[in-house]
Amino acid sequence: MSDEASRCGCRRVHGRNLDEDMQRRLQRVYAPEELPDRRQFLKALGGVAAAGAFAGCSGPSDTSSPTAVSTATEPGTETASVDQSQADQPTTVSGTIAVGPSMETIEGTLEIVDGRIESITEEGVESNDIIVPAFVNPHTHITDATAKDGERARNYSWYELFIDPGLKSEINSSATREEKRAAMAATMEFMAASGTGTFVDFKEEGIQGIDDLNTVDQQEPVDAVGLLTGPIDEEADLEAEIENADGYNTYAPYGEQAERARDICADLGKVFALHSGEPSPDDIDASLALNPDYTSHMVQAREQDYQTLADNDIGVAALPRSNLVILDELPPLERLHEATTVALGTDNVMLNAASMLREMEFTSKLFDFTPTEVLQMATINGARLSKRGDEIGSLDEGKRARLTVFRTDRELQNVVDPIAGIVRRATARDVRRTILR
Ligand SMILES: [Zn+2]
Repeated sequence: MSDEASRCGCRRVHGRNLDEDMQRRLQRVYAPEELPDRRQFLKALGGVAAAGAFAGCSGPSDTSSPTAVSTATEPGTETASVDQSQADQPTTVSGTIAVGPSMETIEGTLEIVDGRIESITEEGVESNDIIVPAFVNPHTHITDATAKDGERARNYSWYELFIDPGLKSEINSSATREEKRAAMAATMEFMAASGTGTFVDFKEEGIQGIDDLNTVDQQEPVDAVGLLTGPIDEEADLEAEIENADGYNTYAPYGEQAERARDICADLGKVFALHSGEPSPDDIDASLALNPDYTSHMVQAREQDYQTLADNDIGVAALPRSNLVILDELPPLERLHEATTVALGTDNVMLNAASMLREMEFTSKLFDFTPTEVLQMATINGARLSKRGDEIGSLDEGKRARLTVFRTDRELQNVVDPIAGIVRRATARDVRRTILR
């Protein structure tokens, strides 16, 4: 076995010492004409090992510590920097730019004035950098950044992880408020360092949880869209609490509060989002009947559900790495993508680093999408699901300047297709700057 194989810890899939049966299955998994078999293969291989094969092999660089983040604004700094300079400081970046929702690339220059994209022109190119919208992650639970001990839960079922009260709550409950806020801040710094500008958190711990998130959000350049998780105490003022958050989320079985929350969210322009069909299809009918802005998972989608999603314009946050680790299953991503707007998310931090780069690589290698489609699922689609498509998620004149600049002198050196390079192999080490104005 090569040094590289032993370093990245994915011995089971690097091919040198695999038994014949495994060799045969590997040949199947890489044969594009046998897509459905990939899922069988992954089940057989086991979730965590496969997650390592497709996500972890992006190497130690993608786990670059939050300490690599600085507020340096000089282009060309050696470590990834998060740029939240004064909004009135004009800035230009140039290179290969993925423009508009179609993400078609041009060689050009992007000018930022007063925190917005002033112009994108095909001139003045002075670098080989690749510039894409900052990623939008539509589904996280960052409180469980204190529960990374969940990594030992390799053989736990979904129920053992999350219900009555489940391993996640048990670990979380031993953390203090300060520890939780510190862990959340560290996760947000990692997000920025790996190119993410906005995330939607299905925030646990009700009203207190939203207060925690709002406090940390004010200190971090990444934008948190915090969904209050209900049901909350009936004594509380539901409208005021939703106003203090960015939306609402709850779980089946749904009570009367869920309907009220949906109407309040619609009135206030807030996000109403749910979970459906994760371990079982039992909650799909009730959740889609609430007509959320979007739901999440849909691993167990049934034939009739695609039509319901399409007819009611209900988007889906797809969380494939999470589904593989927890359920040993994958969502029917191609079918969902045909039916509605699908955005990629990283789900709980207990089991997955909140890296959209990893989620894109994983998705791109397991499903039949073009690199551009995967990039859209990591940017504009998440912006649309979170009702922010007019402001972020694509590089258009007038939108907020929230973008990620990739250098091409490290892992992206010699890449021919810039978008495929970012989707399929970029790591946090390749992020030159995340500009978050
Ligand atoms: Zn969730």
